[in-house]
Amino acid sequence: MKAIDHIYINGEFVKPHGTNTFNLINPSTNALIGQVVLGDETDTQRAIASAKAAFQQFSQTTVAERSNYLQRLYDAMMKRMDDLVAATVEEYGAPQERALASNQLAANSFLHYKKVLQDFEFVRKAGDSEVIMMPLGVVAIITPWNANASYICNKLATAIAAGCTAVIKPSEMSAIQTQIVVECLHEAGLPAGVFNIVNGLGDVVGAELTRHPDIAKISFTGSTNVGKMIARGAVDTMKRVTLELGGKSANIILEDADFEKAIQLAVSACFMNNGQACIAGSRLLVPEHRLEEVKALLKTAVARVKVGDPRDAATEVGPLVSLKQYERVQEYIRLGIAGGAELLAGGEGHPEGLEAGNFVKPTVFAGVTNDMRIAKEEIFGPVLSLMTYKNVAEAIEIANDTVYGLQAYVSGADMNQTREVAAKLIAGRVLINCLQHDPMAPFGGFKQSGIGREFGAYGLEEYVEPKTLIL
Ligand code: NAD
Repeated sequence: MKAIDHIYINGEFVKPHGTNTFNLINPSTNALIGQVVLGDETDTQRAIASAKAAFQQFSQTTVAERSNYLQRLYDAMMKRMDDLVAATVEEYGAPQERALASNQLAANSFLHYKKVLQDFEFVRKAGDSEVIMMPLGVVAIITPWNANASYICNKLATAIAAGCTAVIKPSEMSAIQTQIVVECLHEAGLPAGVFNIVNGLGDVVGAELTRHPDIAKISFTGSTNVGKMIARGAVDTMKRVTLELGGKSANIILEDADFEKAIQLAVSACFMNNGQACIAGSRLLVPEHRLEEVKALLKTAVARVKVGDPRDAATEVGPLVSLKQYERVQEYIRLGIAGGAELLAGGEGHPEGLEAGNFVKPTVFAGVTNDMRIAKEEIFGPVLSLMTYKNVAEAIEIANDTVYGLQAYVSGADMNQTREVAAKLIAGRVLINCLQHDPMAPFGGFKQSGIGREFGAYGLEEYVEPKTLIL
């Protein structure tokens, strides 16, 4: 049992004023593994005051000083990589490989922003005037549970690169992982108050951050519903917002694609991170006359997916994060069946022998149409919807017929055609014949997938504000 009973304010681990607790559960077994004491509004106000005081000095630091801090943060994270991975496997249920990649990405985000600082222009010319890009102030960082360290670190790295200070509210469900991250960040020895971390509930700590006048900006990753609440609340004090929200990404396989490779990629794109990915390629679009071939390939590919104990190096899909998430995904599987979709693989219930944890059978529905709820709503579990198109124009129309616009995937041999299709897709990122992340390129959504962009120089632009000097 781990007891997380401190939060981090003004460079110190302190006992929170809040006294409520939240149970931490291992999703592979549903056993109780820890308890976190939740911060409250008073804790949040103290953290904001500390970040506000630190901003005075930190906003005046040089690029060289901030680059040095970023390097120290990276070094401190790398020293604890084994602990970070173990906690991510235990508390979140990420398979080993995923847990490692996600925590390495977290550590690397400090180096990525050190690199961005090398040629980011804080002083620019516009007309005859000088434009100075000023750090915004205190940034509130609110993050979800599906890649805890990576969201905390990327947003904090951006804030530090800009010269902003931060109050971080991670997901209450990731407190064990967060504890190790905080220990690493503390070890880096930044000036007190530059970052503060308050464990707590969204409608308590998150709500206070959203309403407090001393918060200049909110960087949020999470569900579209909560994102909308934050945007509404933020407008009262004109906070800037970056919102990274949900998705229902389409994956178009074109006629000339290598179908065997493309289907393998489609399965990985949908089931990555146990299916709990905002960028999951959960709507697969294939040419109508190739349907039977695709079904056979999908059946084979899904049968090979190893679901199981995330501690096992061979496991590709672990449990869902919570029983609530498990029930939610089961409900979508029932909806798919009741709605008349054809169950091609998986289905309701646990995979055999994995009844104790929140394990879901990797599921594929064929015969899905875009008006079905399983095609419209973000399921956030390993459930793939297979749809067909008659021609490329129809594929693009179906792909764009969604309230979301985070990411899309295209497979095809003719690069002119894949580029043409990509140009017509309404999505913040389009991945062509690959499943990769570029941490220096912008990431974010069109439509209800969010507002703003993260990563690289585009991400940094969102933490600074232009001030014009007319001389
Ligand atoms: P969530 O929206 O429930 O919670 C995210 C964070 O917001 C948590 O820290 C939570 O405590 C906090 N929160 C909840 N209510 C709040 C309120 N009223 N005010 C302020 N903060 C509040 O999301 P989740 O269930 O943790 O994560 C899953 C969701 O996140 C999915 O919808 C997924 O698509 C989305 N997501 C998006 C991205 C992206 O980059 N676009 C990445 C990962 C996850």
